[in-house]
Amino acid sequence: MACLFCQIVAKTQAADIVHEDDDIIVFKDINPRAPIHVLLVPKLHIATVNDVEDQHTLLLGKLFATAKRLAAQWSIVEQGYRLTVNVGRGGGQIIDHVHMHLVSG
Ligand code: 5GP
Ligand code: ZN
Repeated sequence: MACLFCQIVAKTQAADIVHEDDDIIVFKDINPRAPIHVLLVPKLHIATVNDVEDQHTLLLGKLFATAKRLAAQWSIVEQGYRLTVNVGRGGGQIIDHVHMHLVSG
């Protein structure tokens, strides 16, 4: 399995996991750019947003719902936070497995 995030999903690669359910795993970014910087990752391997299909929309919507829930849990709703999805090398995407950055502080 070549994909780093698939390896984290499979637990063959270590990560500091902060949330996990049947569809999504959330772990701390190894190179945080703020006091809170986590990556919300669908367990299903989708390389980039350019590979998203209609059957993925519910799954990807769960990224937002999970981000909102974690923001409430971490008491950062008032101060706010940034959700970012990079697409393609020119868009800053390094890891070819769709993920959402949640950054705050
Ligand atoms: P991208 O630039 O693809 O949107 O974001 C990839 C992110 O993954 C980067 O912020 C980078 O710091 C993070 N990252 C890269 N390798 C690892 C790793 O092995 N473990 C964790 N937790 N994060 C990683
Ligand atoms: Zn993957």
